[in-house]
Amino acid sequence: MNIVLLGAPGAGKGTQAAKLVAEYDIAHISTGDILRAAVKAGTPLGLEAKQYMDAGELVPDSVVIGLVKERLQEKDTDKGFILDGFPRTTTQAVALSSELSELGRDIDAAIAVIVDPEAIVKRLTARRLCKACGYIGNADDATCPQCSGEMYQRDDDKPETVRNRLDVYEQATAPLIDYYRGSDLLVEVDGDRPVDEVFAAIKKALK
Ligand code: AMP
Repeated sequence: MNIVLLGAPGAGKGTQAAKLVAEYDIAHISTGDILRAAVKAGTPLGLEAKQYMDAGELVPDSVVIGLVKERLQEKDTDKGFILDGFPRTTTQAVALSSELSELGRDIDAAIAVIVDPEAIVKRLTARRLCKACGYIGNADDATCPQCSGEMYQRDDDKPETVRNRLDVYEQATAPLIDYYRGSDLLVEVDGDRPVDEVFAAIKKALK
């Protein structure tokens, strides 16, 4: 199963992706995670990406498309994959579709997790992540409920950056919902519900 996961930042894509990966045993491709790892490692890619990420802007298409093309060559994607946070522009969506057709693969579904923007601002500014295991929690978690690791706030989850990320989403990424509707792949799911309810709705739609 090859899935594209769409939705505004903070819609719950990362949380749902982790559950889908466990359920369907497919590869998780998160461009945000790849970029954050490059920033942490201080690679040339990380140095370039950091300025965009800190401002809540998109990293240039050419950079991100290159990353995803490389990642799709890896063996673990043969069993299926979930793209989390990619594509984010029409250029990326078109590049993905041509890369997949070269590889003889198809997208089975584009799942759009829909959440009200005001709810997103609240969610993102309260979001905290575990340094050790990546668990996604919130400001109420003093330590990680999964592994007792230290929780931290992403730099781009600060209120000013969150607003900009939402504007960028509306302008560059929201049009992809119509793009995938046009190719009959779109599944829209209400993300303003408890995590397990959202997940149940996604699974039902994938059957
Ligand atoms: P995310 O973890 O998906 O919210 O991504 C964090 C940041 O990484 C975004 O705000 C962008 O700066 C960058 N990023 C992640 N995925 C993409 C993408 N597909 N295109 C451009 N920039 C991206």
